[in-house]
Amino acid sequence: MADSSVADVDAQALLDEANSTTGAEGEPKFTLELNQDQKDIREWVHGFAEGVVRPAAEEWDEREETPWPVIQEAAKIGLYSFEAVGQFWADETGLTLPIANEELFWGDAGIGMAIMGTTLAVAAIFGQGTPEQMGEWIPQCYGTADDVKLGAFCASEPDAGSDVSGIRTTAKYDEAKDEWVLNGQKAWATNGGIANVHVVIASVDRELGSRGHAAFVIPPDTPGCEQGAKVKKHGLRASHTADVHLDDCRVPGSCLLGGKEKLDERLARVREGKKAKSQAAMQTFEASRPTVGAQALGIARAAYEYALQYAKEREQFGRPIVENQSIAFDLANMKLEIDAARLLVWRAAWMGRQGHKFENAEGSMSKLKAGEVAVWVTERAIQILGGNGYTREFPVERMHRDSKIYTIFEGTSEIQRLVISRAISGLHIK
Ligand SMILES: Cc1cc2nc3c(=O)[nH]c(=O)nc-3n(C[C@H](O)[C@H](O)[C@H](O)COP(=O)(O)OP(=O)(O)OC[C@H]3O[C@@H](n4cnc5c(N)ncnc54)[C@H](O)[C@@H]3O)c2cc1C
Repeated sequence: MADSSVADVDAQALLDEANSTTGAEGEPKFTLELNQDQKDIREWVHGFAEGVVRPAAEEWDEREETPWPVIQEAAKIGLYSFEAVGQFWADETGLTLPIANEELFWGDAGIGMAIMGTTLAVAAIFGQGTPEQMGEWIPQCYGTADDVKLGAFCASEPDAGSDVSGIRTTAKYDEAKDEWVLNGQKAWATNGGIANVHVVIASVDRELGSRGHAAFVIPPDTPGCEQGAKVKKHGLRASHTADVHLDDCRVPGSCLLGGKEKLDERLARVREGKKAKSQAAMQTFEASRPTVGAQALGIARAAYEYALQYAKEREQFGRPIVENQSIAFDLANMKLEIDAARLLVWRAAWMGRQGHKFENAEGSMSKLKAGEVAVWVTERAIQILGGNGYTREFPVERMHRDSKIYTIFEGTSEIQRLVISRAISGLHIK
């Protein structure tokens, strides 16, 4: 287990900085006027998306492989690093993280996910780990610019997708050795099997359902943690997705995120019939929903911009097609929906950063709207490009394929509606 990488990231300092502005008096006012830092970061990420990501998009979509050279480029300029994500996250308005994601995914979603997929594992460690665990494992999720590494977050299983309470992977504590022994099969893990660090959600007490879950770090090269089948996908093909098998996989006691004392306290509360403060997988998903929404927005904006330009240039019946009201109205609606979705994303990001409770499931609203807008806008873009839109010679076909996952992962659209309807009604809608 490497310990050399503890140094670069002062996780506690970042955490303190982040928490010092959360929900405090004088919390930042919500404003749509971006400050200079936010504009600079937007320009920086946009420059990388335009200059490096976009030109590589078609190639890596066709190859259906992890674009290591592009991730390396991102690491060289500091974009693929915890320092960058930490800096985005530290912004007290909460807007920098969605802004950066939108720009990167505007470049290309498959490569964007290859770069940002690690963040889900990092978010779990950051959200549930102790400062020592953050310092030890987060740098190992990224590696260095010369030797880039990835992180993977493994919650889903063949029989536990929307219903995380169905997770069958178990973690049993071997007290004599102070080790946890994990067994089970994870499905659909982004970077699964090729990651340096895997974060695995496992059940420590099946009878407690999702309240008996805990998150574990699987250190690099741990025996018993193997990649299963790699998934061939409709879109996001530059991002690796695979099953992960855990077969008597032993990890040190210190790999339980948050530590055993905290877990035992939580389990005791649940067994007494009291409410558990958090569920391991849901906590990670809730925090990441506006960011995922922002990724969908990036795809939608890219397709809209392409279609607008195309409609101004393409002539039929002696005039640019944009001069037909039906095309122009479609473009107007595309822009309208994208901007509306962005407002929901920014609201949820701001609320999350201030520590405001999502009383009406505003996080889910943002991801739901942005995901559905991305699918609709990219489909309209294909229509506006006509036959060209349907071919792989033009990028909107890829964007449409990429967009579809945003109504499926991190909670399907149906599950987001379930969460929203429960929040607004106070009823256990099924
Ligand atoms: C490209 C990709 C990357 C992924 N990356 C990760 C990752 O990194 N880590 C990870 O843990 N997982 C990952 N996933 C898994 C993803 O989160 C799940 O696919 C998703 O949660 C849906 O689960 P499912 O596929 O089992 O669908 P199911 O849960 O089987 O759902 C099937 C259908 O039934 C609907 N449905 C289910 N329950 C209800 C209900 N109560 N009410 C109404 N409708 C319902 C769903 O909305 C859906 O339409 C990834 C998936 C993909 C495709």
